[in-house]
This record gives sequence, C-alpha cells and structure tokens, in this order.
Amino acid sequence: MNFTGNISRFAVSGVAIFALGLALGGARAQDTAKEETHGIAVANIDRSVKPGDNFYLYANGEWIKRTEIPPDRARIGVFSKLDEVSSKRTAGLIEEAAKANAAPGSGSRKIADLYNSYMDEAGIEAKGLTPLKPHLDAIAAIHDKRELAHALGESLRADVDALNNTNFHTPNLFGLWVAPGFNDSEHYTAYLLEGGLELPDREYYLANSEGMKKIRSEYETHVSRMLKLAGYPDTDARAKQIVALEQAIAEKHLSLAENEDIHTANNTWSPADFGVKAPGLDWAEYFRGAGLNKQASFIVWQPSAFVEESALVASVPVETWKDWLAYHEIEAGAGVLPSALADERFAFFGKALTGAPQQRPRWQRGVGVVNGLLGDEVGRIYAQRYFPPEAKARAEAMVTNLIAAFRKRIDALAWMDPRTKAEAQAKLTTLYVGVGYPETWQDYSGYEVKADDIFGNVWRGRMFAYQKDVARLGKPVDRHEWTMTPQTVNAVNLPLYNALSFPAAILQPPFFDPQASDAANYGAIGSVIGHEISHTFDTEGSAFDSKGKVRNWWTDADLKHFEAATAELAAQYDTYKPFPDLSVNGKQTLAESIADVAGISAAFDGYHAALGGKTAPPQDGFSGDQQFFIAFGQNWGSKERAAALRQQVMTDPHAPAEYRADTVRNIDGWYDAFSVKPGEKLYLAAPDRVRIW
Ligand SMILES: [Zn+2]
Repeated sequence: MNFTGNISRFAVSGVAIFALGLALGGARAQDTAKEETHGIAVANIDRSVKPGDNFYLYANGEWIKRTEIPPDRARIGVFSKLDEVSSKRTAGLIEEAAKANAAPGSGSRKIADLYNSYMDEAGIEAKGLTPLKPHLDAIAAIHDKRELAHALGESLRADVDALNNTNFHTPNLFGLWVAPGFNDSEHYTAYLLEGGLELPDREYYLANSEGMKKIRSEYETHVSRMLKLAGYPDTDARAKQIVALEQAIAEKHLSLAENEDIHTANNTWSPADFGVKAPGLDWAEYFRGAGLNKQASFIVWQPSAFVEESALVASVPVETWKDWLAYHEIEAGAGVLPSALADERFAFFGKALTGAPQQRPRWQRGVGVVNGLLGDEVGRIYAQRYFPPEAKARAEAMVTNLIAAFRKRIDALAWMDPRTKAEAQAKLTTLYVGVGYPETWQDYSGYEVKADDIFGNVWRGRMFAYQKDVARLGKPVDRHEWTMTPQTVNAVNLPLYNALSFPAAILQPPFFDPQASDAANYGAIGSVIGHEISHTFDTEGSAFDSKGKVRNWWTDADLKHFEAATAELAAQYDTYKPFPDLSVNGKQTLAESIADVAGISAAFDGYHAALGGKTAPPQDGFSGDQQFFIAFGQNWGSKERAAALRQQVMTDPHAPAEYRADTVRNIDGWYDAFSVKPGEKLYLAAPDRVRIW
C-alpha cells in the first residue's frame, strides 16, 4: 500500500499509464515569507477554531483561507507542493542531460531525447494521426474472434499493481502484475487482474446519482468525439455500443473493497483452466498475443470477472469489440497525439472528472513522461544531487526508533497470543527499510528512444516495461527491489517483500527537516514511517509472514479482537460525510485508517524516546506535544475540487485528508496536549477511542 493513493492517473499526464502523484493532503507548505523557519507552520494555524472541535481546521485553517487551487490542479497541499519541487529539480536534471549532448544510447541521451520528443509540439502536429494509423489498421483487419483474442492479448501491459501501489485499474481487457508469489514468495509470479474500463472504477458506470448520470452522458459524447477526431464515421452509434460494452464489463467487476481482500485473490489457474473455468475468449490465442504462451500458471485475482469478461468476448459482436479496441488505442496515445485529441482527452478526464480547469504546463507533463518511462535513470542522478548522506543517516535513525517503539507496543499488547507476538517481532527483524533510493538501478539499455518520435517512445516504453516484467517470471525475487522512484513524493509498503521504501523526495521539509525539532519531525514524517511499518501487521500484513509468504500467523482469538477493534474504526469513518449524498466508506478505507492510528501512536512513543526524559523546547508558545500533533495535522492540510474529492471518496483506499488529520481523536496524548473536553465535536470518551496497536 502506498501512502497517498494514485487517483491522479487521469488528472495530469494525459498518458494514462503514468500514475503521476497529483497526490493528496498536506498544507505545511512553506508558501509564505517564512521559508527560513523550521518546525510547525504557526502562520497556518487558525486559533479561532477549537482543536477539540475540528483539529484539521485548527492546524490548517489560515492556510486554507489564503490558498487558491491553481487552475491546472485538482487539489493542492504539501504533497503537490513537494511534487512541484521534485518536478523542478527533475526538469533541471533533464535540461542538463539535453545540454550535455551525450553519446547515442547513453542514459543521458535517452532522457534528453524522450523529453525533447514530448516537447516538440510542432512535430507532433505535423505528423497528425500517422503514428496511430498502423495500430488502428491492425484493429480494422481483425476478421474473427480468434484474431480478436490475439489482439486483446497483444494489448496486455504490466500496468496494475494490487498490493504495492494499489492500482487496480487498466483500460485493457486484463492487466498483468509481476510480483513474488502468494504461494512461492521466492520467485516472481504472474498475477492477472480484471480490466476493460476507461472510467476510473465500476461505480462510475453503476452509481445512480444525478452526478454520475451526468458524467456517463458526458463520457459517451467524449467517446464519440475521440472517434470522430481519429477519422471514424457514425461515431454516435459506435460510442453508444462502446459505452454499453464497458457498462456490461463494469457490472462484472469487483468493488475496490472486495479487490483489497487477498484471501479471495489467491486462485492459481493453469493455461488449460482458463478455457474450462472461463469459456468464451480464445485463451490460447490470447496468451500467444501476450507472449505468455509458455507460462505454466497464473494467479487470477478476480475469477468471477474473468468468467464474465471472457463470456462477453463470445457474446458481443466482433465489430463492437473492434470499436472498443480502437477507442482504447486512441485514448492510450491521445496525450502524445495532435492537440485536438490531447485537448479533448483532457476536457473529459481532466476537467469533467477532476474539476481542474487547465492542464499543467507542458514541461511538467514532459517531466512526468520521463519519470514514467526512464524513472530510475533520472532517479540515480536525483538521489546523488538532492539526498546527502547526513539526511539519509538521520532518517535511518528515526526508522530505528520507530521500529523499537513498535517492538515495545507489541510486547505490551494484552490480547495477543505469545506465538503471534513472536512472529510479529520476527517480521520487524527481517523488515527491509529502503531510505532515499534503491541499492540497484533499472537497466534501460533495451529501450529504444528516438529524438523525433514521442508516440513510438511511449509505445515502446510501455512495451519495454511489460517485457522486462515478463522476463522476470520464475526468477528469484530481489527483496531489496523498489517500486517507486527516488523523485516520487510518496512512501510504500511492499507486503510480499516485507519491505518499505521512503523515497528521497518525501524526505524533505516540511515532512522531514534535519534542522527542525524532533517534535515536528516525528509528528510529520515519523507518523508516515509509523504508518508504513504498521501495514506489516494490519489486515494485509497479518496475511504475510516474516518471509513474505502467505500464511496466517494469527490465532483465531487474535483475529477476533482485531476485527472487533477495527470494526469500531470503520464505523467511526462511516459517520464522516464530505457530501450530503456521499459518506466515507469505512470498510474501503479501513486498512489505511488503521495505519494512520498506529503510525501516530508509534511516532508519539518514538518522539518521547528521542526526548529521553528531557522537556522539549517550545516553539511560539506551543509545547513539544502540541508541536507533534500540529505537525501531524499539517501533513493533511489540502484543498481539492469537489469532483476530485468525490472521485477520491469512491475510488481511493485512503480517506480524505481532513478525516486523516482528525484521527488524533483516538490518541490519549492529544487530549492532554490540547485539554480536549467532553462536548467538543471530536471528543471521544476513553473507551470509545480505537486502540489497535
Ligand atoms: Zn498506507
């Protein structure tokens, strides 16, 4: 699980595969004249709000009042601010690479050529639809269901990730995820996930609210326009069929909450099983098209969706599937096709779906493309330049303290069986925490980048990533592998590796500042680190042992207590209503909400351990404990457009930022720090505060 979700696929890049971090939350941006200060952002605090009534507004209210969402953004906060810092730095590195006139084939040359080919708008306009044409011609040449199956197989990409970056969305019929096996954690295994929808989630097709109906009708118009721009006739009729097909697929998809349950996901199928269990699609041809015809077994994440999607391939006419394929092909390339298509794509997926009135500047999108396709090539230079050994050492010391805090908390749990505790401690012993950057880097020598061919560069880049993953199948797992680049403002827990990564770009002020007090650092980044460590033990982590193997290492009694305690937390989040017609889904966000409570609890312990009994120095009249909680609350200050918030509530496993900040109401230390009294809105009597770890 990553820390801030990935709902931004559509908002920013125009190249859907790059899950760029138009991330959530965070207002402790040093956006005022106070650039020089370290510690909590006192100017952001709204003293007219009682901390016990609305802690989120108390910590961030003044910042919220004076901040406008830029027109090219769906939301703004610390994450997007740091994202901008990281983008600018990355752009600088790219510019250097461009000036260096490096040798053809070198990493620097690839960075330069990829970026320049994206920036060459005149070249893109001049080529028109030429780069797309061979792909559409190939689809037009499909005669029957057998050739269709082959083409569907050819469209398979490594564009989903069920457990690390929790991305369950692919517009292709299915998606491939290559990771350590549920049943053989020592080797890379092929997981197949449901797909086929362009809209972000099944709910967009099924929900009956007026807002959703409006989006669906706008979507159909958009599909028609895209087909027309690509030169198709009768586009209204085709669009109707395409949307109806996606609607039928959506009805068979699992909900996000169901997708997060790994116990229903561990289904091993041999190639022969597909034809028997999920008849309809010509599976042998599909796997040939995908280059997976030698693969002996797969883990099928959502068997019911595979059954139904395969049946749809049989029952829906080949002409409709060809239109669906063509439309998806156009959409996949639209971000790097002439502006008529790119703009129409943004008008729907950016403006209508997230509410952002403007696209981000082209250079920022270009940085996104380079990060998406050559992420480690840039990351290697980024880490060298922007993450000095001293910062790495201090962050690693915090990690050590947090792990020690968890060891104590586990020992002190009254409800947990001693055998369960022993395995939890073993997980802490084998836990690999990557700080800043990976130990080894991706090799891009097999990826061909041309200076004047952005469409081909993107196409080949996705194919290169796919083939690299396919080539790893069956090979031994590298437990120190990273799934995020150092320039990503996020953090991640990799349950099948029993590993965490904290990229250099999140280990920056205001999250982490080597010159700030322990109170601010532990409240801000300490709670993030604690959040990620706790995933090792949560609803996900309890299913994986110290070697990353799928094994339930809990007793039934442990599980019962855990489920009761976590149900209370889900119920607490169910009461939050960001819209009159839409509540937070406590179950969908449960794993992340548990991690937030655990993270701040352990960070609070780690902070007190770091103090070693001394009184913390006050800042602007705030005690150490107050600074700690304010720093935590200020992680979450953010403003978002209503459409983006709605999308998040429906599709993201993380609750909206406001409620993540307010989870301090579960921590005893917060009541003491701010003298929170009964009657105040966030007040919970001691027995109602949810304690899990
Ligand atoms: Zn998380």
